[in-house]
Amino acid sequence: MINITDKTKCSGCTACASICPKNAISMIPDSMGFKYPVVDMGLCVDCGLCDKVCPFNDDYDRSANLDSPIAYGARHKDMNEIETSRSGAAFIAISDYILERGGVVYGAGYADHFRVVHKRAVTKEERNEFKGSKYVQSDLDGVFRQIRDDLRKGLTVLFSGTPCQTAGLNAFIGKKLRANLVLVDIVCHGVPSPKLWEDYLGYLEKKMGSPISWVNFRDKQEFGWAAHKETFKFVKMGGGKMSFTSLFYKHIMFRRSCGVCHYCNTRRPSDITIADFWGWDKTDPEFNKDDKGVSLVLLNTPKGVEIFNAVKDKLDLREAALENCLQPNLRHPSEIHPKRLQFERDYRRFGFRYVYNMYDEDGLLYKTKYFLYHKIFEPIRNLSR
Ligand SMILES: Cc1cc2nc3c(=O)[nH]c(=O)nc-3n(C[C@H](O)[C@H](O)[C@H](O)COP(=O)(O)OP(=O)(O)OC[C@H]3O[C@@H](n4cnc5c(N)ncnc54)[C@H](O)[C@@H]3O)c2cc1C
Ligand code: SF4
Ligand code: SF4
Ligand code: SF4
Repeated sequence: MINITDKTKCSGCTACASICPKNAISMIPDSMGFKYPVVDMGLCVDCGLCDKVCPFNDDYDRSANLDSPIAYGARHKDMNEIETSRSGAAFIAISDYILERGGVVYGAGYADHFRVVHKRAVTKEERNEFKGSKYVQSDLDGVFRQIRDDLRKGLTVLFSGTPCQTAGLNAFIGKKLRANLVLVDIVCHGVPSPKLWEDYLGYLEKKMGSPISWVNFRDKQEFGWAAHKETFKFVKMGGGKMSFTSLFYKHIMFRRSCGVCHYCNTRRPSDITIADFWGWDKTDPEFNKDDKGVSLVLLNTPKGVEIFNAVKDKLDLREAALENCLQPNLRHPSEIHPKRLQFERDYRRFGFRYVYNMYDEDGLLYKTKYFLYHKIFEPIRNLSR
């Protein structure tokens, strides 16, 4: 049965917990809020299904894949959809198609005070909550079984998430029910900690003296597509926004599996892959001149090609050569910050305020260290050379 002794070996996809016939596996959060499977030995019958289903290895299923993905740059023809999505709103065009045919869409939204969770949507209004990237690992508790129930009822289901999530769902669902399941993954550089996110919101609310009422992880309407800046609205500020940059874009609080991710390549565990189209100008230097954002779309399976052909008229498209689309996380996993384990130990021991001050560019200790090094130590060293 599954036994995680090395945290780099588990992405937290929930496939093992979902498949267990005895409900013997619980997903238990560690000190950073990342969930790992824990087996209740009193319930386990040693059937081996949990080990068999785990896709976090190089042998994950890609039996339906084309020899090589077909690549496009894509922008939704409705500028309002682009403005409110992370990149070119390819996800909106694809999910509209599923919803308009009576299907169901699963994606990352919010539960109880901006906790990031996967949710089910049957209308465009419900689906709109999934727009935009949430840079925190989403909670999948119970979602795979809910999807299996939908598929058994004959519904078409679109699931969108990180590649480890689509690989997990694919392995859990199996070949029999796969025909009506559409998998859309994102190019993924890693997921930050859910517990740090919760603490960060608490810290900001205390600092501003008001509950948060709205969150945008990367506000491109305010700062443009390429910027990394999250914005918040606070209840007591009557709708005014505050912007922060934070630890969330450092690789110091990623899940440990992200540093050895098996899916940072073009052999995708999904029908369609969507991403920011970095390097779009190599394909067409006019395409994203307004910096509103452009999606990269990779069609990985015949099913992906069929669905994309059906939504093409909603998108402004440029066919792209795959070699012009290979951003870092399509070639190799992110390099995890060398102080990742030290960070976790400090967080466990001293709490959020300490690590925020110590490791974030806005933190007092970070600024002091920066000042001492760059303004005093470095000039002295240069003088003495
Ligand atoms: C954790 C994370 C890492 C990313 N890393 C990269 C990267 O390395 N390179 C790159 O080009 N782009 C990255 N992205 C951005 C992603 O590629 C864009 O969301 C994608 O381009 C889709 O843009 P869109 O405009 O089509 O749709 P949008 O409407 O912006 O896309 C939203 C889609 O993202 C999914 N999603 C949002 N947050 C999460 C989450 N926490 N977990 C799982 N699914 C989520 C939603 O379910 C939905 O399908 C990342 C996003 C996330 C959430
Ligand atoms: S071996 Fe079987 S019963 Fe035991 S935890 Fe795994 S799936 Fe459940
Ligand atoms: S990667 Fe998924 S299936 Fe494998 S052990 Fe972790 S949660 Fe279970
Ligand atoms: S980097 Fe890999 S392991 Fe980490 S969240 Fe993304 S797909 Fe999953």
